[in-house]
Amino acid sequence: MTVIWQPALSKEASRWRELAHRVTQEHFAPLAAELDREQRYPWENVRRLVEHKLAGLFIPKQFGGQDTSLCATAAVVETIASGCPSTAAILCTYQLGAFPVLLAGREDQKQHYLGEMARGVATSFALSERNTGSDAAAIQTTAHREGDHWRLCGEKYWIGNGGASRYYVVFAKSDADRGARGISAFMVDKDQSGVVVDEVADKMGLRGTQTSNLRLDVTVPDSARIGEMNGALRLALQTLNVGRVLVAAQSLGLALAAYREAAQRGVERQAFGRPIIENQGIGFRLADSAVEISAARMMLYEAASAYDESRDIATLGAMAKLYASEVAHRAADCAVQVWGGLGYCKPTAAERLYRDQRVLEIYEGTSEIQRLVIARAVRQEAEECIAAGGAKARAGG
Ligand SMILES: Cc1cc2nc3c(=O)[nH]c(=O)nc-3n(C[C@H](O)[C@H](O)[C@H](O)COP(=O)(O)OP(=O)(O)OC[C@H]3O[C@@H](n4cnc5c(N)ncnc54)[C@H](O)[C@@H]3O)c2cc1C
Repeated sequence: MTVIWQPALSKEASRWRELAHRVTQEHFAPLAAELDREQRYPWENVRRLVEHKLAGLFIPKQFGGQDTSLCATAAVVETIASGCPSTAAILCTYQLGAFPVLLAGREDQKQHYLGEMARGVATSFALSERNTGSDAAAIQTTAHREGDHWRLCGEKYWIGNGGASRYYVVFAKSDADRGARGISAFMVDKDQSGVVVDEVADKMGLRGTQTSNLRLDVTVPDSARIGEMNGALRLALQTLNVGRVLVAAQSLGLALAAYREAAQRGVERQAFGRPIIENQGIGFRLADSAVEISAARMMLYEAASAYDESRDIATLGAMAKLYASEVAHRAADCAVQVWGGLGYCKPTAAERLYRDQRVLEIYEGTSEIQRLVIARAVRQEAEECIAAGGAKARAGG
């Protein structure tokens, strides 16, 4: 019997999930504490992701990938995150780098970059800057046309897989006067002169991932441009819509790991002559965790299914990411509390998960930005309802 709600996955998705479970148990989970302690990027895990064809899961078959559904990808990410949140986050940065190419790349760009990615050569998504994370339209990196080339100048911050990836989708202002409608995206190779991968962030959690800054004064040909000229902010947001579903999957996996840590400790730890789970203060907290994790999982697979059915996921993805990341926060907090003094100290998993969780509420749009997206949808629906005479109906007219 499982207390937590289980999605009814397709045969294909179940197969991928089982494979991910096996690889996670054998290889990723046993390394999780070491990666955190040493703040080390796990190249051996990346090789395993490639070997088991997990790195190119969402890449179409003609480019060397597996062409799986988002439901299957979410199941894999969730499973890996339950054993090693850093490795799951690395897999998600592959997706984030691939999507702009997948959505808007030319055929030759897809052949090259997606093919490389399926072989494990990653692409990163480079949008954020030190002064502009949430307000992406305000980026200051510039792209100046010089004949049939572009000169990109600026600095990108907190780039996932920075330094470990070979390629970067760099978003830059190609028309400074057009604000959000003046941004273009360019593929940049780390080995080009004028690209400096700057300091690696010393992070609170997910310490097996590598997050770096990127200093750019580099010239690229116009053929390195991805998608429509000046239309890349939309491309970034479309990419993030999918990315948010996978952050929800990371959150789910982490929440499950924290919940299991807490539940098993609740049964094993005795105080006042009985297991602490017999106290309602502990048992009810775990019950709430089980309910919330089940609900977050339903939202995650609803958003992933919507994407697989070509429905709009802007709001659903924001809801799934917002809720699942906050559920992971509460589950990790519960694990620390149930573990007591040990939960506050290394090397318990509760302590590590508590730190690993925090960024899930920050990257790919903070919780506040998700609420902003959802609030806009609420307003639009209310306005449409009023325009259609809903106000009259509400007032009983
Ligand atoms: C580990 C890590 C990995 C990352 N990976 C990548 C990556 O691969 N690529 C990439 O491009 N970026 C990446 N980022 C950057 C990340 O997406 C940004 O940090 C995030 O979007 C928040 O931006 P900011 O840090 O500038 O915060 P700010 O935008 O300055 O926000 C600060 C606070 O103000 C709040 N706030 C801002 N605007 C509003 C508003 N209108 N209403 C209410 N509250 C508001 C925010 O919610 C937040 O709480 C990563 C960050 C981290 C930490």
